[in-house]
Amino acid sequence: MCTVCGCGGHEAKVERRQDAGHGHDHHDHHHDHHHHDHGHHDHAHHDHDHSHTHPDSPQRAHAPGLTPARMVQIEQDILAKNNSFAAENRAFLAERGILALNLLSSPGSGKTSLLVRSIELIGKRFPVAVIEGDQATANDADRIRATGTPALQINTGKGCHLDAHMVGHALAELNPAAGGVLFIENVGNLVCPAAFDLGEAHKVVVLSVTEGEDKPLKYPDMFHAADLLLLNKVDLLPHVDFDVEKALAAARRVNPKIKMLPVSARSGEGLDHWLDWLIATRQRELAGHPALDRVA
Ligand code: MG
Repeated sequence: MCTVCGCGGHEAKVERRQDAGHGHDHHDHHHDHHHHDHGHHDHAHHDHDHSHTHPDSPQRAHAPGLTPARMVQIEQDILAKNNSFAAENRAFLAERGILALNLLSSPGSGKTSLLVRSIELIGKRFPVAVIEGDQATANDADRIRATGTPALQINTGKGCHLDAHMVGHALAELNPAAGGVLFIENVGNLVCPAAFDLGEAHKVVVLSVTEGEDKPLKYPDMFHAADLLLLNKVDLLPHVDFDVEKALAAARRVNPKIKMLPVSARSGEGLDHWLDWLIATRQRELAGHPALDRVA
């Protein structure tokens, strides 16, 4: 259970690679049962409690029978365990010179469309792999696989965010290519995913111009955690009352260092700047891997 929103994380299922692309008949691969080889994961860590919690949130869900002090203790334990799984994921990725980006937004901001366009632009330059997070369906992973890019779906069931443990399973299953870029599309939610490090190099938040420009102020944790803000659907600006400068000012108020790039997955506007950012960021990730650098 997530103590912010009360969501359940017990039902998460990571797609099996051999099933990917062959319909939606997932193996029952329960998050807290272990049917396969765990790859880089340490088995000793697998007994963790799946009550997902958020330490910095002023409001917590009520859990019957638990005192506030006990809730805080549970939150600290869960975040500590998540962080240890995230550190394993980060080590796995660093060893292979893979740039991992955690994509976050509200539902409907256009994350998957943006990914499909990005893959069209960069897929020929270096290896790309995608982990998709949604409560249900493999629709988004299917959209990515249609481009020829390896993708794996995690269904979180009642869970409202991906955690590092689920992503560790997906990494072992997906086995992304060295020197590439791994996109992790999180569950559409501007609250809970902010607290969970997945082992990514950067969190990238997507905000579309069909939303309110004050969203950074309403969901400060998310915009504070992100290094890059992709302002999507800018082709619609003539048709909506969205003030780009106000949105940037709001984002800067909660995160003075955030960088904003206006883009449109639909028209292609601004995607060259996003591509430049990706290439430069990947280059930094490859600093310790001179041999892989030649892939670009
Ligand atoms: Mg999506």
